[in-house]
Amino acid sequence: MIQVKNLHKYFKNYEVLKGIDMEVNKGEVVCILGSSGSGKSTLLRCINFLEKKNDGQIWIDGEMIKGTEEEINRIRCKVGMVFQRFHLFPHLTVVENVMEGPVTVKRADKRETYEQALRLLDKVGLLDKAEQYPARLSGGQMQRVAIARALAMEPQVILFDEPTSALDPELVGEVLKVMRDMADEGMTMIIVTHEMGFAREVADRVIFLHEGVITEAGQPQEIFENPKTERLQAFLGQLQ
Ligand code: ADP
Ligand code: MG
Repeated sequence: MIQVKNLHKYFKNYEVLKGIDMEVNKGEVVCILGSSGSGKSTLLRCINFLEKKNDGQIWIDGEMIKGTEEEINRIRCKVGMVFQRFHLFPHLTVVENVMEGPVTVKRADKRETYEQALRLLDKVGLLDKAEQYPARLSGGQMQRVAIARALAMEPQVILFDEPTSALDPELVGEVLKVMRDMADEGMTMIIVTHEMGFAREVADRVIFLHEGVITEAGQPQEIFENPKTERLQAFLGQLQ
């Protein structure tokens, strides 16, 4: 589904990603771990072309994407993204937020999109909030709306950038539950997270990023129970 080959990204002279190679197969859940500043967000942003890479290749669904405008529009339909800080439109109701992508980007039929949006809100447990404005929701509810909005584009893969990091601790579980359900349904997901319990249970593979390099990758059990590098040992130690 996604293949990243020798990806390099600089900000001015500063090399943030130093030759990343990774592959995500259809239906796989890959969690990315790493300290703040290690390049996790930049990696996700390069994969969906919110950032322009400097070197390397990005393949999505069997196609090498160079980054033309036409390609990027197509990629935006295939690759969804959920951010730490929700990014909902405050002037639109919850259901309108979910409809926005299909209606504006895909020019989908409004009534069908409305019905689909209600189904997605039901799926994330927020059908009763459909006509409310985001400001009246909790952070956990806002993030679930953001997930429904990503799903509305019917993407083939969804990237999550620390989806629960901005939430009060008691609201984290409801968002992780929705993500777990998506994983169970076979959604392909790349998730940057500090939720180790979640990564351990849900990920098919875990990647550890350190200073722009993947220094360790493997199944959750290997990564958590038998970290090979001191870097990863130290990282996991800090979280306990
Ligand atoms: P992470 O998500 O792992 O915390 P980021 O990918 O956000 O890391 O950032 C990696 C490094 O790149 C950091 O040193 C950060 O300051 C730098 N960086 C990120 N975005 C920009 C930008 N737009 N301009 C300049 N430097 C940036
Ligand atoms: Mg980040």
